[in-house]
Amino acid sequence: MFGDGPVARQLRRRCAAAGLALAIFSPTATAWNAAGHRISALIAWQQLDPGTRQKISRLLAQHPDYELWNGRVAGSDREAGVFLEASTWPDDIKNDRRFHDAEEEPTALLPGFPDMRRHRDWHYINRPLGHPATIAMPFGQLDKRLDLLTKQIGDPRTGVRPRVYALPWLIHLVADAHQPLHVVSRYDNTGQGDGGGNRFFVEHPVPTHKQPTSLHAYWDDLPGPPWLRGERLERSATAIAAAHPQPPPAGTTRHWLQESWSIAKDSAYPTDDSPAQTLTAEFHMRATALARQRVAEAGYRLADLLKRLLAPSED
Ligand SMILES: [Zn+2]
Repeated sequence: MFGDGPVARQLRRRCAAAGLALAIFSPTATAWNAAGHRISALIAWQQLDPGTRQKISRLLAQHPDYELWNGRVAGSDREAGVFLEASTWPDDIKNDRRFHDAEEEPTALLPGFPDMRRHRDWHYINRPLGHPATIAMPFGQLDKRLDLLTKQIGDPRTGVRPRVYALPWLIHLVADAHQPLHVVSRYDNTGQGDGGGNRFFVEHPVPTHKQPTSLHAYWDDLPGPPWLRGERLERSATAIAAAHPQPPPAGTTRHWLQESWSIAKDSAYPTDDSPAQTLTAEFHMRATALARQRVAEAGYRLADLLKRLLAPSED
């Protein structure tokens, strides 16, 4: 969640110097966990017409990691399975040694990739929330990348390779844009931002969960457990789509981010500010309902966006 900028590097160095466990602060918290991304992707896939599905599948089949995705597909609908695998690829590469972080020694450029960066700061935009005297410049590129990827995929003059590389990113980032804590950093009166709730720790209301957890990780896991796949995933996606049968207004990427910011401001944090508090059952119910609604909205909007972007292309 620190991203790749100079502030991030400085914070990482400071944490390391202080002997703090980097795991607490490093961007291990991703976005919606894999289940959240797969549920959104599945809802999107179910909304797509055969023609758009075919165009998507043709693009994904040319991705350098296609075989990796294809190898993981268990169900009979291979094209849907590959689409779901592609939806988590930008998170998967965070643990893939072929790729590197901005401050690391570059890894070898492999065929088909424009670069081997993990681009951690594409996943979020930390717009300030909270103490007005400490408003800082947001960091993170989620807003810019959504617009750029949309342009790349929708413009037939873009070469095939950039479009192929852009597609899993777009599938992933549409869902990230709907995770409220991917759009904020809440500042306290000392000027410290919490990096999208990554440094705000709470006790999970369900005692069997790992304790304590960051508020960010808590939200990531709300759509379902990360191992959710196959029939269970399908049942979950069906239930979430059935609870939200009406596609939301398509809106623009700016609009989606603004919605997430408002949810983060009004509902993502417990009203009591005390650290390491146990979240209430009432908060948990409300947050779960909101997370499911956002996952559904991301799915509908992703389908709508892909239909529009791929409609004019002949390939
Ligand atoms: Zn992400």
